[in-house]
Amino acid sequence: MSATVGVLALQGDVPEHRDLLVRVPGIGSVLEVRTPEHLERVGALFLPGGESTTVSRLLDEFQLREPLLRRLREGLPAFATCAGLITLAKEIEPSPHGRDPSPLGILDVRVRRNDYGRQVDSFELPLRFPGLGEAEFLAVFIRAPRILRTGPRVEVLATDGKSPVAVREGRIWGLTFHPELAGDIRLHRWFLESTGVLPSAPGVAGASPRAG
Ligand code: GLN
Repeated sequence: MSATVGVLALQGDVPEHRDLLVRVPGIGSVLEVRTPEHLERVGALFLPGGESTTVSRLLDEFQLREPLLRRLREGLPAFATCAGLITLAKEIEPSPHGRDPSPLGILDVRVRRNDYGRQVDSFELPLRFPGLGEAEFLAVFIRAPRILRTGPRVEVLATDGKSPVAVREGRIWGLTFHPELAGDIRLHRWFLESTGVLPSAPGVAGASPRAG
């Protein structure tokens, strides 16, 4: 079996997700999604980090907002990182300075943008995940949003010690950090296996930090 997965390719770190995904066993092709027609062809969608106000504007310009929301409501598995998470959030705390993106409202979290500081305040944090066994995952935070509230159906997968940094609600996952920058395929793979896009290979996801 081989799956076609998509990366929303309007803006942001699209190549980083694509380069990681082509290393995941079982993935047949990785499609850069820019049109509603592309969206119909993918079995899962990755929403990269970038700038959420720009992504929000481009979703409208490329006429993707409604088709994307429809596919997500129908159960399309989605893996959203940083600006991607902001794009899917139910609520964004209004920013004191300037414009805010219009989120899709499909993931029941409230977020505050840029709450971990500016670009120069970027940092790495080793995290533990239930699906990855004992081995830690090195999470890279860049102008990350903070998750302030999670709804009753939202499961917290990891925290920074204070706030959730990885959550899932059904088949929709949201991460405040950038797993695509660590060169580590395990979270992408775990997501694809646990949402049934790829068959599960027990034990493989947690085998080693650079598995695959
Ligand atoms: N701060 C950005 C935003 O609010 C997100 C940063 C990122 O994706 N690394 O859109």
